[in-house]
Amino acid sequence: MNSVAISAFKISASIGNRSILQGIDLQLPAGRWTSIVGPNGAGKSTLLKVLAGLLPRVAVQGDVQLLGRPLAQIPARERARQLAWLGQNEGSADDLTSYDVAMLGRLPHQAWLAPPGTADHAAVEHALRTTQAWDWRHRPLSQLSGGERQRVLLARALAVQAQVLLMDEPLANLDPPHQTDWLHTMRALVDAGGTVVSVLHEVSLALQADDMVVMAQGRVLHQGACDAPETHAALEQVFDRRIHVRHLDGMWMALPSIHRHDNKTKEIDA
Ligand code: ADP
Ligand code: MG
Repeated sequence: MNSVAISAFKISASIGNRSILQGIDLQLPAGRWTSIVGPNGAGKSTLLKVLAGLLPRVAVQGDVQLLGRPLAQIPARERARQLAWLGQNEGSADDLTSYDVAMLGRLPHQAWLAPPGTADHAAVEHALRTTQAWDWRHRPLSQLSGGERQRVLLARALAVQAQVLLMDEPLANLDPPHQTDWLHTMRALVDAGGTVVSVLHEVSLALQADDMVVMAQGRVLHQGACDAPETHAALEQVFDRRIHVRHLDGMWMALPSIHRHDNKTKEIDA
């Protein structure tokens, strides 16, 4: 039986008067990789922030549990060791070197004002080598390309060595070979017992996860295995039948359905 890494009960969120998430119940299994997909504005980033405890409490109703404990009751440092976070379009201190940025991931492991120890340096080196960012460890973040920078930020999240890793659009600016590397890294983390939750707009890559959460308009429409026909049906529906899920070269892929996107066709389909 799988245990649950993160549970969400009756989550609603609003910003100002706007309701952004509505009544979300979700259980994300431990030791698996779940991808969250849905159209722009569906509430994916907001949900991920709620799961990480990053939205102000006043904006959120409902409860989140991390590894069986209410998130709100876990002390911040302990939470930061258990749950690593990589946000969408995240900035970082640009004048820091890549090495120092990755070392930020070790802060929750270090005593107050203590210098990094052997384990911290080892974790940072391993993380930077994993994302192939080790070669530019002495360079400031401001001198890197978007994709290079993203790999340093990913290394920072990996350096935490948390049980649960939450990532919002982690593939932004990555070229195809590094996207493939990222898939292998996620698979290795999960094989080692970790839990990965990633918001992805690259649907074909999202289909390489174990499980998928399909969102639209602040709700979860479907949660299921990435290879299940019901999941593929939910995906095609949520993207207005403008993609088709096909099995190609042993993988599930989402292909654009270029002939079917005019309004007339949609009416006939419906
Ligand atoms: P997604 O990540 O799926 O694209 P988001 O969670 O970022 O969606 O946003 C969901 C909805 O909430 C969108 O309509 C967006 O405009 C709105 N929203 C997000 N953040 C804010 C904010 N800080 N203030 C007002 N509206 C917001
Ligand atoms: Mg988003």
